[in-house]
Amino acid sequence: MPSITNHDAWFAGLKALGHDDFPKRCRNCGRVFANEVDYFQQTQAIRPEITGLKAVVDDAGPLVEVFRNCVCGSTLLVNCMSRRDDSAAGNSRRRLFNELLGYLVHHGVDRAQARIELLRVVAGERSAVLETWYGQIAARGAKVED
Ligand SMILES: [Zn+2]
Repeated sequence: MPSITNHDAWFAGLKALGHDDFPKRCRNCGRVFANEVDYFQQTQAIRPEITGLKAVVDDAGPLVEVFRNCVCGSTLLVNCMSRRDDSAAGNSRRRLFNELLGYLVHHGVDRAQARIELLRVVAGERSAVLETWYGQIAARGAKVED
Protein backbone atom coordinates (compact mmCIF):
# COMPACT_ATOMS: atom_id res chain seq x y z
CA MET A 1 0.00 0.00 0.00
CA PRO A 2 1.47 3.36 -0.95
CA SER A 3 2.08 5.72 1.96
CA ILE A 4 1.26 8.70 -0.24
CA THR A 5 -2.48 8.49 -0.58
CA ASN A 6 -3.59 11.82 -1.96
CA HIS A 7 -2.39 14.49 -4.34
CA ASP A 8 -1.69 17.04 -1.62
CA ALA A 9 0.70 14.66 0.12
CA TRP A 10 2.25 13.89 -3.21
CA PHE A 11 2.83 17.56 -3.99
CA ALA A 12 4.27 18.24 -0.54
CA GLY A 13 6.58 15.29 -1.04
CA LEU A 14 7.64 16.66 -4.38
CA LYS A 15 8.66 19.94 -2.82
CA ALA A 16 10.50 18.15 -0.01
CA LEU A 17 12.63 16.25 -2.51
CA GLY A 18 14.78 19.14 -3.57
CA HIS A 19 16.63 19.98 -0.39
CA ASP A 20 19.91 18.13 -0.50
CA ASP A 21 23.24 19.88 -0.19
CA PHE A 22 21.86 23.34 0.68
CA PRO A 23 22.86 25.88 1.74
CA LYS A 24 25.78 25.54 -0.63
CA ARG A 25 28.86 27.73 -0.36
CA CYS A 26 31.29 28.55 -3.15
CA ARG A 27 34.75 27.70 -1.84
CA ASN A 28 36.34 30.25 -4.14
CA CYS A 29 34.38 33.44 -3.46
CA GLY A 30 32.28 32.52 -0.44
CA ARG A 31 28.91 33.18 -2.05
CA VAL A 32 26.16 31.19 -0.36
CA PHE A 33 23.23 29.66 -2.20
CA ALA A 34 20.31 29.21 0.14
CA ASN A 35 18.41 26.62 -1.87
CA GLU A 36 18.18 25.00 -5.26
CA VAL A 37 16.17 27.87 -6.78
CA ASP A 38 18.79 30.36 -5.59
CA TYR A 39 21.46 28.12 -7.05
CA PHE A 40 19.89 28.01 -10.50
CA GLN A 41 19.14 31.72 -10.56
CA GLN A 42 22.55 32.93 -9.43
CA THR A 43 24.78 30.53 -11.33
CA GLN A 44 25.33 30.07 -15.02
CA ALA A 45 25.35 27.07 -17.30
CA ILE A 46 28.87 25.85 -17.93
CA ARG A 47 28.11 25.98 -21.64
CA PRO A 48 24.88 27.39 -23.07
CA GLU A 49 23.78 24.15 -24.72
CA ILE A 50 24.41 22.02 -21.65
CA THR A 51 22.11 22.01 -18.63
CA GLY A 52 24.79 20.60 -16.34
CA LEU A 53 22.20 18.20 -15.04
CA LYS A 54 23.22 14.58 -14.77
CA ALA A 55 20.44 12.37 -13.56
CA VAL A 56 20.47 8.61 -13.29
CA VAL A 57 18.19 6.06 -11.74
CA ASP A 58 19.30 2.47 -11.57
CA ASP A 59 19.25 -0.34 -9.04
CA ALA A 60 21.44 1.70 -6.70
CA GLY A 61 18.76 4.39 -6.53
CA PRO A 62 18.46 7.91 -7.82
CA LEU A 63 21.48 10.13 -8.30
CA VAL A 64 21.42 13.72 -9.46
CA GLU A 65 24.43 15.98 -9.93
CA VAL A 66 24.17 19.56 -11.08
CA PHE A 67 27.23 21.38 -12.38
CA ARG A 68 27.02 25.16 -12.67
CA ASN A 69 29.40 28.10 -12.81
CA CYS A 70 29.40 30.53 -9.91
CA VAL A 71 29.48 34.26 -10.75
CA CYS A 72 33.18 34.16 -9.83
CA GLY A 73 33.77 31.62 -12.61
CA SER A 74 34.39 28.67 -10.33
CA THR A 75 32.55 25.45 -11.22
CA LEU A 76 30.22 24.17 -8.52
CA LEU A 77 28.75 20.73 -8.09
CA VAL A 78 25.61 20.10 -6.13
CA ASN A 79 24.75 16.54 -5.26
CA CYS A 80 21.08 15.79 -4.90
CA MET A 81 20.15 12.45 -3.43
CA SER A 82 23.70 11.20 -3.27
CA ARG A 83 24.05 7.43 -3.11
CA ARG A 84 26.76 7.92 -0.52
CA ASP A 85 24.27 9.57 1.77
CA ASP A 86 23.46 6.82 4.26
CA SER A 87 21.96 9.19 6.79
CA ALA A 88 18.36 8.89 7.88
CA ALA A 89 17.57 11.97 5.80
CA GLY A 90 19.21 10.45 2.74
CA ASN A 91 17.35 7.20 3.16
CA SER A 92 14.02 8.89 3.68
CA ARG A 93 14.61 11.05 0.59
CA ARG A 94 15.24 7.97 -1.53
CA ARG A 95 12.13 6.34 -0.10
CA LEU A 96 10.15 9.47 -0.85
CA PHE A 97 11.40 9.48 -4.42
CA ASN A 98 10.18 5.92 -4.90
CA GLU A 99 6.82 6.72 -3.33
CA LEU A 100 6.33 9.73 -5.59
CA LEU A 101 7.29 7.59 -8.56
CA GLY A 102 4.87 4.89 -7.50
CA TYR A 103 2.09 7.42 -7.12
CA LEU A 104 2.59 8.73 -10.68
CA VAL A 105 2.72 5.23 -12.13
CA HIS A 106 -0.41 4.36 -10.16
CA HIS A 107 -2.11 7.24 -11.95
CA GLY A 108 -1.10 6.04 -15.38
CA VAL A 109 2.15 7.90 -16.04
CA ASP A 110 4.89 6.02 -17.87
CA ARG A 111 7.53 4.97 -15.32
CA ALA A 112 10.58 6.04 -17.34
CA GLN A 113 9.11 9.44 -18.08
CA ALA A 114 7.99 9.90 -14.47
CA ARG A 115 11.57 9.23 -13.31
CA ILE A 116 13.04 11.82 -15.65
CA GLU A 117 10.61 14.49 -14.53
CA LEU A 118 11.05 13.72 -10.83
CA LEU A 119 14.82 13.94 -11.23
CA ARG A 120 14.41 17.40 -12.75
CA VAL A 121 12.57 18.51 -9.64
CA VAL A 122 15.19 16.94 -7.39
CA ALA A 123 17.80 19.01 -9.19
CA GLY A 124 15.84 22.20 -8.61
CA GLU A 125 14.46 22.62 -12.10
CA ARG A 126 10.82 23.21 -12.85
CA SER A 127 8.96 20.42 -14.56
CA ALA A 128 6.04 21.67 -16.61
CA VAL A 129 5.14 18.05 -17.32
CA LEU A 130 4.87 17.22 -13.62
CA GLU A 131 2.80 20.31 -12.98
CA THR A 132 0.44 19.24 -15.74
CA TRP A 133 0.18 15.72 -14.31
CA TYR A 134 -0.42 17.15 -10.88
CA GLY A 135 -3.28 19.25 -12.24
CA GLN A 136 -4.79 16.29 -14.04
CA ILE A 137 -4.58 13.99 -11.03
CA ALA A 138 -6.02 16.66 -8.75
CA ALA A 139 -8.83 17.29 -11.23
CA ARG A 140 -9.77 13.63 -11.19
CA GLY A 141 -10.03 13.78 -7.42
CA ALA A 142 -6.99 11.57 -6.99
CA LYS A 143 -8.96 8.47 -6.16
CA VAL A 144 -6.84 5.91 -4.42
CA GLU A 145 -8.05 2.38 -4.38
CA ASP A 146 -5.99 0.54 -1.83
ZN1 LIG B 1 32.13 31.74 -6.42
